[in-house]
Amino acid sequence: MPTSEIDVLRKALYRRSGGLCECTRDGCSTHKVKSRCSRILYGDGWKIMRLRQRGPENLRNVFGMCLDCHKAQTMPRL
Ligand SMILES: [Zn+2]
Ligand SMILES: [Zn+2]
Repeated sequence: MPTSEIDVLRKALYRRSGGLCECTRDGCSTHKVKSRCSRILYGDGWKIMRLRQRGPENLRNVFGMCLDCHKAQTMPRL
């Protein structure tokens, strides 16, 4: 996907999320299971994540995730 398209997606995603992390995943220490994280997404300091790994990269299949959640997801759980 060209960078410009990612930019467009990122902006649209930011608007939809209201500038707050949309993560509701289990296993984050940053928020409760099944509840939305809602941390503020600053500038470039957040990630676009796919809901379904093999799904398309469009608004219906992505959500904004703060770096705290991203770290919680990528680090092994103790
Ligand atoms: Zn988060
Ligand atoms: Zn999370």
